[in-house]
Formats: sequence, structure tokens, C-alpha cells
Amino acid sequence: MHIRVRGTAAATALALAALLPATGTVAAAADAPTAGQESGRVGVEYFPDPRGEGARTDVPATSPHAQSAPASRQRTGPGDGEVVPIAETGSTADRLDVTIIGDGYTAAQQEDFLADARAKWNAVTDIEPYKSYEGLFNVWAVQAVSQDSGVTGDPTQDVTRNTALGSYFYCDEIERLICVDLDKTKSYADRAPATDLVIVVSNSTKYGGAGYSGLAGDYGYDGVSTLSSDNAQSTLIAAHEMAHSIGLLADEYQYDGYGAYPGDDPAAANVSKLTADRMAAQGTKWADWLGETDPSGGVVDTFEGGDYYEYGIYRPTANSIMRSLNTDQFNLPGREAMIAGFYRSANALTPLADPATRTSRFARLSVSLATLPTGTLARPQLRWYVDGREARQARGRTSIVPAALGVPSGRRAHTVTAKVVDMTVAVRSAEVRGITSNSVTWTVKG
Ligand SMILES: [Zn+2]
Repeated sequence: MHIRVRGTAAATALALAALLPATGTVAAAADAPTAGQESGRVGVEYFPDPRGEGARTDVPATSPHAQSAPASRQRTGPGDGEVVPIAETGSTADRLDVTIIGDGYTAAQQEDFLADARAKWNAVTDIEPYKSYEGLFNVWAVQAVSQDSGVTGDPTQDVTRNTALGSYFYCDEIERLICVDLDKTKSYADRAPATDLVIVVSNSTKYGGAGYSGLAGDYGYDGVSTLSSDNAQSTLIAAHEMAHSIGLLADEYQYDGYGAYPGDDPAAANVSKLTADRMAAQGTKWADWLGETDPSGGVVDTFEGGDYYEYGIYRPTANSIMRSLNTDQFNLPGREAMIAGFYRSANALTPLADPATRTSRFARLSVSLATLPTGTLARPQLRWYVDGREARQARGRTSIVPAALGVPSGRRAHTVTAKVVDMTVAVRSAEVRGITSNSVTWTVKG
């Protein structure tokens, strides 16, 4: 299932922001580069210090270090473009599909890549709320065979390597910024059964990475995160970048000299022009969480500075993973937005009997529920309804027989509905609670 494209206002703000921090020159929003435009440049976010705040710049969409043909055609070696499922939890229509592609791995190193891809996914899903909702993801590893082992710019700027995706440190002269060739990346991502998000694992121990987001219009998936394979701190880059695409979250950091936020209240759930009093009075944004103790430390309130601006814009907590990579914690409003995002692109409930066909009172109806284990944040609750009234005795069952559920005999048709709602404590908004829900209805002959 596809992730929806970021809201227009946020995309404009990000595109504008992309121009500002690196050079200090202010350009009109109309000139802001977006993917696929003639400028051939795209906005990207990076984290210059492993435990610090992010920054944005714009970079070429192509790479000078990408090899022209797959290495497997240049020398014998298995596997270029081969897809290996790392986690297959459900149909692509009902799951968020993450595609992990390796760069800087030779034909002989593809097993290393698969081990690195698994380790990275395990590390990302050690972080909440990915941890609780891992069962809503499919993960596909796509093998890309590189001529050289390792990537350009590791360890120093003068080192060049010929690789499948052309990933390179020192992109835009910034040592920790790893750029890739976006078209080459797409050619591999398209091998996977479905792709909502891409993670490029570059074969390196050196800290670095980047995040491209808002790509859906040109590439069909919203985001590409790059990160080095054997650097633990780089994992947080992917966790942060995926949150832009999944949770539609804004950055909670600011730039010196950026001044006052100029626009309307942003669409993102984790920044607002409202101070706590007004937010509480209006019941909007993170009003439900004000005063709560937050996993990122401290109490949820309105802290001035965020979405790149210093004044007139507020974030929910002093710190969070959307502000700095010195923590792996989302704040409570961010976590709720992530869960909304998981369920916008995934369904916990999948019918195992076709709802399009009329069924009989005695034919068993079954559904599968995503594996979201107890003891995590997730609390999917499955209920059954006959003609809209709950059959309470069937609560939690994944298989029923309509007659036993109370569907009466006779000429009239009846409906049987299975519905799941996530009762997680991490959601307080009624709207988000609705997003966590999905249902299926069958027509049953009397
Ligand atoms: Zn960011």
C-alpha cells in the first residue's frame, strides 16, 4: 500500500528550508528544487554529528560514482537484483513495505549484505513505536552487486569506488552526508513486490547517512534513507527519516537566525503556532497529551522553536528523536502520529474468505490478524457483529460460523462484520483511533 504524499504546505516549507541552511542565501519558494525538476537537484536531510541535530541542503539526484552496468554482467556473480524477503507478515496491500538495498557489496559479499540488512531492520525495530508495530511491515532485501567493495569517501574524500547505487560520503562537501543515485536506487527498489519506503545500506563502518522525502510524485515511494551498514548510530537516521514519510512529522529543531515562523499552523502533528493555553482551549494538536510525562524526558508542553524556526512555533517536548539523534525516543504526540501513519498504509485485519461472495449460515468465516504481540503498545481488539449488533461471545476470535453467531434461518439476508480497533494507550485522538480500525462485512443467506 502506498504512503500518502506529504501535505503541500509542509512540502513547500521543506523545499524552501532545503535551500537555506547550507548556503545562508535566501531563495524564493518558487525556485525551490524538487525531485524530477530540470535542476536535477533534490532536498535532503543529514545529521553532521552522530548525536546532534539535523540540517538540510539540496544535492544532485544522480551520482558520479554509480557504475553504468550491474557488476554481475561485468564478472560472474550471483544475485544482482535478486529479492530476499527479510520479513513477510502479510499481503503487500495490507502492509507497509520497506525495501532495503545494499551498496558497495560485491558479488561475493551478498550474504554480508543480507546479514547487515537484517541487523539494521532489527535495530530500527528496537525503537518504539516501530517495535510494537513491526508486524505491520513487510521487509524486502534487494541485492545490488557492486564492482567495488565499500563506498566512495570512506575513509577519506579522495577514495572513490564504483558501486551499484553510487552512494558517497562528502556529498555536497559534507563528510557525513551519504547521497545516492535516485534513479539507480529506483531500478532496484522496483524489483521488490511493493515499496513504500527505501533504506539504502552502504557498506561502511563510518558514521553517516541522509534522508530524501516527498519523492512519491517522481519515484512512487515517499522516502529514501541512506545509512552506513556497520555504524550503530546511523540506525537513528533511518528511524528519524522514516518518521517524516510515515508519521508526516516535522523536524523539531531550529536554525540560528531563522527568526519567526511565517506561515499558517503547520499540518504536522508535532509542531504548532499555539501555546499550551490556547491549544488546550481549542482541543487541537497535542492538547490530549499536555502535562503528561514523556518517554523522551520531561513533560509535554509547548516549547518554542521547531520546524527550523526559532520563534512563534512550538514543539511538544524539549527533546525527541525528531529534534536530535541524542535520543531514540519519539515524544507522545509523535508516537501517536506514527501509529496513525502505520495504519494509514496497513490493515491489522485481513479477510480469509472473499467478502464479495454471498456465503451460507454454516460456512466458516475467518480473518487473519497482524501479529502485534501483547506486552507492546499495540492492543488490537477484534469484534464480530451480526446486522450491526455485536456478538460479544465471539470477541477476539479469528474464525466463526454465522449460525453459531446468531444469524437466523429464513429468507432474509444478514450481514456479518469483523472489525478490529487498536485500543493502544498511545492513541488518544478519536480520529486516529478511527484510522487504526478496519473491517470486513459478508452477506449471509438466511
Ligand atoms: Zn528530519
